[in-house]
Amino acid sequence: MTGGRTAHVVVVGGGFAGVACARRLAGQPGVRVTLLDRNAYHQFLPLLYQVATAELTPGDIRFDLEAMFAKYDNVEVRTGEVVAVDPAAPAVTLADGEVVGADVVVLAAGSQPNFFHTPGADRFTFPLYSLEDAERVRSRVLQLFQDASTKPELVDEGALSFVVVGGGATGVETAGAMAELVHDVLPHVHPHLAVAGARVILVDLGHALLPPFSDEAPTYAARQLQRRGVQLKLGTSAKEVAAGRVTLSDGSTIPTHLTVWGGGLMAAPLAASAGLSQGRGGRIDVRPDLTVDGFPAVYALGDFANIPAADEQALPQLGSVAQQAGDRAGRNILDNLRGQGRQPFQYHDKGIMAMIGRKAAVAEIGEHRHELHGRLAFAAWLGVHAQLLANADAELNAFLSWADEFYLRSHHRSAALLDPATIDTPRIHWNGR
Ligand SMILES: Cc1cc2nc3c(=O)[nH]c(=O)nc-3n(C[C@H](O)[C@H](O)[C@H](O)COP(=O)(O)OP(=O)(O)OC[C@H]3O[C@@H](n4cnc5c(N)ncnc54)[C@H](O)[C@@H]3O)c2cc1C
Repeated sequence: MTGGRTAHVVVVGGGFAGVACARRLAGQPGVRVTLLDRNAYHQFLPLLYQVATAELTPGDIRFDLEAMFAKYDNVEVRTGEVVAVDPAAPAVTLADGEVVGADVVVLAAGSQPNFFHTPGADRFTFPLYSLEDAERVRSRVLQLFQDASTKPELVDEGALSFVVVGGGATGVETAGAMAELVHDVLPHVHPHLAVAGARVILVDLGHALLPPFSDEAPTYAARQLQRRGVQLKLGTSAKEVAAGRVTLSDGSTIPTHLTVWGGGLMAAPLAASAGLSQGRGGRIDVRPDLTVDGFPAVYALGDFANIPAADEQALPQLGSVAQQAGDRAGRNILDNLRGQGRQPFQYHDKGIMAMIGRKAAVAEIGEHRHELHGRLAFAAWLGVHAQLLANADAELNAFLSWADEFYLRSHHRSAALLDPATIDTPRIHWNGR
């Protein structure tokens, strides 16, 4: 890919990793980029639960990919579903059969929910991994409140029992925000709704919340959730999900019409058809320089890849890992073009954090893991999300002003967001529901 001609890099996925890689290559001589995503937009997944609980509009976390790269002549954004990868060519195939050849292919197609073979989970739970997922959850919650208000007998059938499966960051953040919506916001905004019977139940097989956190954070998170009225069922897994109920491993059954699945992730379906070595979670195994063993012109990044860490475990599925890996892949591609070797990826850990409803968050920052709680943690959480939003710099101000409102005005919600019929993102059919 040297020798004076322009090298063509195809990046699959406009998430944190794909966008960061394309950004590194944008405006560079000797290279052109085709950025492919099934959507015309980048979605900011860390704030999905806020869309699901009517705190944010979908437009707040959906960023137009073409606008992001409008000023770069060497980046073309295309909307299309990639259905196959030929790592030897290398090339990718789109759903309409078009084959897009390249000098380098970067695979950054992210994750999908992992239901761990739980019967009924794929059909009857609501995952939280896309804007459509988030809107579906929001619409469902509000519809259930309206239904229960006109037919109070539905409450006994679980219409207002909302189950969240998973005690990791997604489950904890969703349960906390949902509890505030149903216990604080809806009674305030819609006093006519039947809110008295509403409950939020968080189920997790583990005995502590937020497994990657150490010390006091899991206890603090549990206390904060309980303070918000969330019922915790720890040490218990969802054994089966059916229409109208979840059966737990202790034999009990919860009648419910909404189970949110935050129980785990695996590589996006494309990984299975890429013909490459898949490791834990179906993710593509990569070398320290982020290329796939035996295919130096194929990179796999972010949630799509098992990226080796210093302790020989894979790095976690985090936006910051994906973003930094995307940047490193871009640098390695440029170095190769200039006849230099590729460098191993080194992750700079800026910390992990989770927000538990309004005014409570836990954060562990830096290698020495300082724990932050409450107001300070919220400030840190804001900083980290603002940094992740650097992908879409124009939106940063909007995010910061939203955060200001979010922190200060506890009951504020736009009327449109509290209407179950308001749907902003094109809908897909999810198992016929
Ligand atoms: C609810 C939730 C909360 C989170 N909170 C945090 C947090 O607070 N902090 C943090 O650091 N991380 C957080 N994460 C994790 C973080 O969002 C992911 O690690 C990160 O998005 C991974 O980036 P990525 O680029 O690998 O994949 P993604 O961001 O998922 O992007 C993948 C892209 O590929 C596209 N795509 C997939 N398949 C195809 C195909 N076949 N053809 C074309 N396009 C395709 C998708 O449309 C998508 O745009 C959270 C994740 C979730 C789900």
